[in-house]
Amino acid sequence: MESRLKLRALLMAASLAALSLFLASQYRRRRRQKLRSGSCYLRTDSKPQQSFKRVLADNSYAPFKHLKRKDSDDEISSNVHPYEAEIMALLNNPRLEFKNRPDDMDLTMKDAYVWVETVPQLEELADILAKERVFAVDTEQHSLRSYLGFTALMQISTQEEDYLIDTIALHDSMGILRSVFSNPSICKVFHGADNDVLWLQRDFHIYVVNLFDTAKACDVLLKPQRSLAYLLETYCGVATNKLLQREDWRQRPLPEEMVLYARTDAHYLLYIAHCMVAEIRERDDEESFGRDDKLHFVLEACRRSNAICLQLYTKDIEASPGEAAASSLISRHLNGQGSASSDALDTQFQDVIRRLCAWRELMARVHDESLRFVLSDPAILALAEKVPSTLSEIFDTMTQADLNAESLSASFPSPSPVVCSHMDHLGHLFLKKIGDLNDLFPVILQTCLGQNGSCPLTVCNYPLLVNSTMKLTNRVLSRQNGSKSAKQVTRKASRQLFVQKFSCKSPVYHNCRIYANDGRLLCYSDRRKLEWYLRRDLAKVVDDDPPAIMLLFEPKGRPEDEDNDFYIQSKKNICVGCGEGNHYLRYRIIPSCYRMHFPEHLKSHRSHDIVLLCVDCHEVAHAAAEKYKRQVAAEFGVPLFVRNIADSKDVRDPSETSELTVNFEQAGVSPLELRTAAMALIRHGHKMPPKRREELTQVVMRFYGGREITNEDLERALLVGMSSHERKRLEKKRGLSLKRNKAEVIPGAEQKKDDNDTGVLSIAADQLEVGRLDCEKEGAESSFISDEGCGNSLLHCDSVAEEEAPISIENDKNIESNRSEAFNCEDVHAVDIYDDEESRTVQNEVVGIHDSVNGGAPQPKHNPKLSLLGHGPHGKQVVDHILQEYGEDGIREFCQRWRQVFVEAVQPRFLPAGWDIKHSGRRDFGEFSVYNPAKKASSDAART
Ligand code: AMP
Ligand code: MN
Ligand code: ZN
Repeated sequence: MESRLKLRALLMAASLAALSLFLASQYRRRRRQKLRSGSCYLRTDSKPQQSFKRVLADNSYAPFKHLKRKDSDDEISSNVHPYEAEIMALLNNPRLEFKNRPDDMDLTMKDAYVWVETVPQLEELADILAKERVFAVDTEQHSLRSYLGFTALMQISTQEEDYLIDTIALHDSMGILRSVFSNPSICKVFHGADNDVLWLQRDFHIYVVNLFDTAKACDVLLKPQRSLAYLLETYCGVATNKLLQREDWRQRPLPEEMVLYARTDAHYLLYIAHCMVAEIRERDDEESFGRDDKLHFVLEACRRSNAICLQLYTKDIEASPGEAAASSLISRHLNGQGSASSDALDTQFQDVIRRLCAWRELMARVHDESLRFVLSDPAILALAEKVPSTLSEIFDTMTQADLNAESLSASFPSPSPVVCSHMDHLGHLFLKKIGDLNDLFPVILQTCLGQNGSCPLTVCNYPLLVNSTMKLTNRVLSRQNGSKSAKQVTRKASRQLFVQKFSCKSPVYHNCRIYANDGRLLCYSDRRKLEWYLRRDLAKVVDDDPPAIMLLFEPKGRPEDEDNDFYIQSKKNICVGCGEGNHYLRYRIIPSCYRMHFPEHLKSHRSHDIVLLCVDCHEVAHAAAEKYKRQVAAEFGVPLFVRNIADSKDVRDPSETSELTVNFEQAGVSPLELRTAAMALIRHGHKMPPKRREELTQVVMRFYGGREITNEDLERALLVGMSSHERKRLEKKRGLSLKRNKAEVIPGAEQKKDDNDTGVLSIAADQLEVGRLDCEKEGAESSFISDEGCGNSLLHCDSVAEEEAPISIENDKNIESNRSEAFNCEDVHAVDIYDDEESRTVQNEVVGIHDSVNGGAPQPKHNPKLSLLGHGPHGKQVVDHILQEYGEDGIREFCQRWRQVFVEAVQPRFLPAGWDIKHSGRRDFGEFSVYNPAKKASSDAART
């Protein structure tokens, strides 16, 4: 009894657990559904072609790309038949090798046949066929639930065996048969190969070379009929049910009668071909009696057969989607009706037909369905005649029209699932929300396949999207190029150098894309990662050049889910501003000079406030941030730049310096600018144009409170803002080379030059050049080229130094090594915080200028975190002030202000969903806002 109770309790607990699991999964699914606005039947309905990893003929408007032979010349365009030469040779010189006489051949069809559905089986078949002189082929197609159709079965018969190849299971591997089909010494027998030849090109890049088509033989022999059924009956005494031709050949396992039908289509072909060739030869012997051109008819049959092989598959591309179908419907209708209706009605009628045909066409491409499956011709005509005004009327009109055209409704649902799940579009079409038919294309693409689109992206439809986004990008680019000023053009060279040097080398390592199974771009990655997924059948190829794959599973995280690994990884790979994926830099929305002084727990939103930007967007963001820093400096009364405090004896308390507010920008110099100027003077001072040398000297002089500077001052300036560790390394590296250069920097400064040292010294200087000081070097050299002086070039360098951190996306050694080369200015600026984890160790080394610049002057009393990178004490003083006046809410508000500045400057289009200016992890602080006038007034009052 007791155990029974226990069992019941256990069962109860188990079912409760199961229920909660179920509810949780339901909730997750519903949440996911909600993210994608609307829902499409394809989210639940699966079609066999969705398992294809590679599709040669996709549903886009891009022309079909034919096989490019590796052994052919590069100049041969993809629209030339890859085997043209071989086929042309056969036209004049057929290679028919029918040795057996028909009466030797065994006609009987055994019970056994070979079902080929794995790669090893297909390879084995390829080996067998390579040894044959002739084999027979037929294919079965599926076209109802596919836009362009696909080969669902291939039948190959040799004299010994019938092979049925599951071309759905082996879709991506059918290339294994490419060589036997293109081998001119193996004759392929088809009946009516016109379509098969094109289908094989379309699906598998298989090109038939050396064809004998029994239908062409019928023509040459002037047979009364040219159907296979006729030949089967007359030569083999076999009857077939050709109705099976229209069956759904995607079925697996294939019903027995379909297997039999399929085998029959190929099995007897060899025998029939032999008979017909024998007949043709006979005819030749009779008719060419006394003439030179023996084998006249054989030659003609072969010529006609191989001419078929010269055809090339093409996609029908109309100027305006659905236009051809619309015209044909309209003319058919008008012919049938006479001209009873008025002109106005006529125009409306035609307009509705055009709209519906265009919609049908695009929806068929998007969903990879045939036109007739999406919306039947009778339904379109009925809708155009009735012009229903409500969705339910639209629905009823279609159902009725399809019911009347009985043959259609029998085979598939009406209205189609496409119509049912996208009724909203149809409503728009009728209500003319989409005015211009040309606007239809982007609207449909956007709602179906765009961000949060309703329909799954597949290998077939994704190129529709890719091509359209490409157009968009081009437009954006050309707009940018159009507004380029002459000055920008002159800066191009140094900018390119900069991009090359500091951005991620994505064209080399990250030019592959990974899409989610609903088509959302997840991230860029390297080839190895793509292959890893492909090898495990976890993804399928959606593009070759540059390579792209689509994951076949739901990734753990989505870009819209904050705080998960995938999000962090993926968001590192395109510019959030413009979507550029070829190069990008990390950008800190909250400048480090402030953020590093935040209390630890307020730094937790790193992934939110560090974004990737391309060089262009980075520059825009950085300029805006610099401008805003000046505003902050004025607002808080905290100067932006540093001076050599010990020299000028001018240690200021920000609260005491309100009268200096207007002059903050001139009051000092940023450590980076200082170091760059000092380095340039030390290394290039002697060969610099005097004007430039004077400018840089002024920069350094500003730091020393305007007094004349010595070479020693330059040396010391190099170390400003560096950690003691950094300083030691720099000193060790520079060693003697500094001494040598000193004499040359500032004319008149005395320094003994030791010529004997030159050899050694130049090596040291070279090391310096390729080593850690690239950043300074870049800054210095750019300022040479740039007529704007150190302005923008320095900004570049500054951006790198301050905001840029190595981006490691994959645990890829190549990338690691690449990035350490690309970011070798990183250690020069190790005072900055790259990651909060790292910062803890780094911070301990950060020292103020007082330390060694002043030869061991006492440490400042305040926090040793003080970094002079960027703007020295400014950041700390501002943060301290905010914390003191407004507490942590003030910091949060401060962050929001920086996000606002960023958004206004860059107008980012690719920020991850969920990114928010208000992002705080807490509530809003209107009441305590720094900007709250009442609050500010009261706090100002409190201060004075
Ligand atoms: P067959 O060459 O007779 O084996 O036909 C090959 C494929 O062409 C079939 O699987 C069908 O998909 C298609 N096909 C040929 N004729 C027709 C037809 N009259 N109606 C529909 N489909 C056809
Ligand atoms: Mn067939
Ligand atoms: Zn859909």
